[in-house]
Amino acid sequence: MKPMNEYGKGTRCIQGGWQPKNGEARVLPIYQSTTFKYESTEQMGRLFDLEENGYFYTRLQNPTNDYVAQKICDLEGGAAAMLTSSGQAANYYAVFNIASAGDHVIMSSSVYGGTFNLLTVTMKRMGIECTVIDPDCSPEELDAVFKENTKCVLAESIANPALVVLDFDKFVSAAHAHGVPMIVDNTFPTPINCRPFEYGVDIVTHSTTKYMDGHAMAVGGCIVDSGNFDWTKYPDKFPGLCYPDDSYHGVTYTERFGKAAFITKATAQLMRDLGSIQSPQNAFLLNVGLETLHLRVPRHCENAQKVAEFLENHPKVKWVEYPGLKSSKYYERAQKYMPNGTCGVISFAVNGDKQDTVRFMDQLDLAAIVTHVADARTCVLHPASHTHRQMNEQQLAEAGVDPGMIRLSVGIEDVEDIIADLSQALDIV
Ligand SMILES: *Cc1c(COP(=O)(O)O)cnc(C)c1O
Repeated sequence: MKPMNEYGKGTRCIQGGWQPKNGEARVLPIYQSTTFKYESTEQMGRLFDLEENGYFYTRLQNPTNDYVAQKICDLEGGAAAMLTSSGQAANYYAVFNIASAGDHVIMSSSVYGGTFNLLTVTMKRMGIECTVIDPDCSPEELDAVFKENTKCVLAESIANPALVVLDFDKFVSAAHAHGVPMIVDNTFPTPINCRPFEYGVDIVTHSTTKYMDGHAMAVGGCIVDSGNFDWTKYPDKFPGLCYPDDSYHGVTYTERFGKAAFITKATAQLMRDLGSIQSPQNAFLLNVGLETLHLRVPRHCENAQKVAEFLENHPKVKWVEYPGLKSSKYYERAQKYMPNGTCGVISFAVNGDKQDTVRFMDQLDLAAIVTHVADARTCVLHPASHTHRQMNEQQLAEAGVDPGMIRLSVGIEDVEDIIADLSQALDIV
C-alpha cells in the first residue's frame, strides 16, 4: 500500500492505523492485556530505558491504542500522536508536558468550561499561571500578554459552546514571534473540516468523545504533534525536551526522538506517572466511529445549516449563532479556514427569560437533554445550568455564554424531523 498520507481523508478514516498483514485479523484487534511477554531480562531492560521500541505495560502503550492514534495522526497530517483517557487529560498533558510550576501560559477565554477550569483553577494550584484573553482581541493586545516565562498558547478551532472561529493567523504568528508553540483543541470541526497544522499550529488536541467517536459510547482524548516546532531553538525555555531526563538515564528527547520528542516525553513521563490511559476497549470503539467520520461530519453540517436557517427565521428566537450563517460574525473566517463546513453545533436563545428557556427544552421530544454534544443523536444543553455552572456572571460573559443560551447539537437524523421537533417546542414559548 502507498503511505496513508497519499490517500484521501475518507480512505484514511477507514484504512488508516491498523493495516493487517497476510493472515491477520481484518479488523483492529483489541489487545486486552495489561502486559507483554519477553524472553530476555536484558531486552525488557532496554525497553524501560527507551533504547528499544516495544510494548511492556499498557499504562505506557498498548498496540490497539497506538493504531487508533496513528489513524488520527494521519487524519491531522501530524508526526506523532497518543490517546488519552479523555479530552481533559489531552489538554492537561499537552500543556503540562512543557509548562511547570513557575511558568505561564495563555488561553483563549472562549474555551470549553472544563478546559477553562483546568487551566485557571487546577493548574494554577500546580503553580502554572494562566492569562485568559478574548480570542477576538487585537494583535497588539495579544502581543502584550506574553511574558518571559510563557510556554504555550491554547485555543479552540471552534469554541465550545460560543462557536468562535479561531483567527489562526493572528494566534500562530503571535505564538511563534514569542518562541512558543500554538496548541489548538480541534474537537468541533475535526480534521475532516479543518486541519490546524496547515495554518501553522504546532500541537492539536481532541476530545474524541465527540464527533470522532460520534455515537456517545466512550470518553476519550488524543494529542497530535505536527513535529514542526523547533524546541532546540529555545533549549532553556523547554529544558524537559532539550536536556537529559534523569528519570530515563539521561535521555534527551529532542536528540533521540526528533519529531516524536513531544509525544514520547508525554508518554514516557506523564502517562507513566499520571496514568490517564484510554482503555483498549474504548480505543476499539473509537476506531469504529472514525471509520464513518468523513460521512457523518458533512451530514451534521448540512443538517445544522438547515436548522440554523430555520431558527434564524423564527419569530420566537432571540438570536442564533452558527458560523455557517451569513449573519454570523465568524462567517468569513469560517469560509477562510474551514470552507467545507464547520460543525453541527448551533447556539441560540429563545425569547423570554430563563424559565422560558427551560420550558422550551423540556418540551423537546426528539432532541434529548444530555450533557453531551457532537454525536449522531440531536441533543440540547443549557450551558449556564450545566457545563458552565461553575462560572460566575462575568466569566460567563467573557466566555461568550448568554445565561439564556441553548447549545443545540444537531444530529444526523432526518432534518425535517429535527425541525418539526424544534417547531412544536417553540410553539409553547
Ligand atoms: C468535551 C470537550 C473537552 C473535554 O473532553 P472530555 O472528553 O469530556 O474530557 C475538551 N475540549 C472540547 C472542545 C470539548 O468539547
